[in-house]
Amino acid sequence: MTETLEIKITKTSNSRLAQTDFENLPFGQIFTDHMFVADYADGEWKNLEIIPYGDILVSPAISSLHYGQSFFEGLKAYRHADGKISIFRPDKNAARFNKSADRLCMPALPEETFIQSIAALVDIDRDWIPSKPGYSLYLRPYMFATDRYLGVAPSKSYKYMVLACPVGAYFSKTLRVKIEDHYTRAAEGGMGYAKSSGNYGVSMYPARKAAEEGFDQLIWTDAKEHKYIEEMGAANAMFVLDGKLITPIAGDTILDGVTRNTVITLAKEWGYPVEERKVSVEEIMEGAKNGKLTDAFGAGTAATIASVGSISHNGEEYTLIDPKDREFSQRVLKTIDAIRYGNAPDTHGWNYIV
Ligand code: PMP
Repeated sequence: MTETLEIKITKTSNSRLAQTDFENLPFGQIFTDHMFVADYADGEWKNLEIIPYGDILVSPAISSLHYGQSFFEGLKAYRHADGKISIFRPDKNAARFNKSADRLCMPALPEETFIQSIAALVDIDRDWIPSKPGYSLYLRPYMFATDRYLGVAPSKSYKYMVLACPVGAYFSKTLRVKIEDHYTRAAEGGMGYAKSSGNYGVSMYPARKAAEEGFDQLIWTDAKEHKYIEEMGAANAMFVLDGKLITPIAGDTILDGVTRNTVITLAKEWGYPVEERKVSVEEIMEGAKNGKLTDAFGAGTAATIASVGSISHNGEEYTLIDPKDREFSQRVLKTIDAIRYGNAPDTHGWNYIV
């Protein structure tokens, strides 16, 4: 038995639910009525509260603003046809939350606190969870340093918060992607495996340059030689090459994605050969050219499967087969959706019912 957390709850007297246009849900801009907040001080987590969503007052000297002691997670809650609400694999995000915390010299949050704080927020704001197919409630847990101190040192105080946003389908368009061979997201010994805010800040400039050239997304390569594929934008890069599912091994420089793990688990169960290994730019470009690359996508919580339409490298660009004719990613997407919307048996125990 896990202990139930003591969470102080202050409900809003002014719900925005009735005024919210659920036909128009731009990603990450519409917030539910409440948010979760907790403080870390004197070596422990305290003041666990759910309060009305709103601005917070912080000192201009908080060290997260100056030195980047800040990280986050992203996961989703889904409404089933019978009205049940589930959160998809929150234990995985809880574990990764603490990996990020450790890399940034920030305090761990007990996994049960992570899961229960999110479940409590989802429960209070359950009427905000859209029922349309493909829609969900995006959850954003995060932690940041709050010491008022301009010295470069780990903070002693932190805030943990959770926000929730009803969302429609994310970027479901077929992507024109470019293999990046100059800029770097993460290097060995760096913090690519953490969901640190800095990893996203550093990605924006190269992404903007690629967008100016007409690309939707970048494929990141290794920092040393730019010969091996790492990730695709803010998603894990996955390919079906020669009938095998191949994906870069999740090491120092790659975020160990929950969707990636889900896709690999299903592929293995279906008897697909799966290879987690170094994936060279050369073999992918060769496969795109000779037709042996039959599927390519980014796997992540936001989009689940973001299909690659064409891949470009060094001025060569190849168009892949139409995403609707791709056996693997179509099957994976259908299967994952069926499980998390409660339309297929959850044999893996992936749905955390709220
Ligand atoms: N890589 C990066 C850099 C990401 O930001 C994300 C999104 N969290 C992913 C991969 C995919 O991870 P997940 O499937 O857990 O969302």
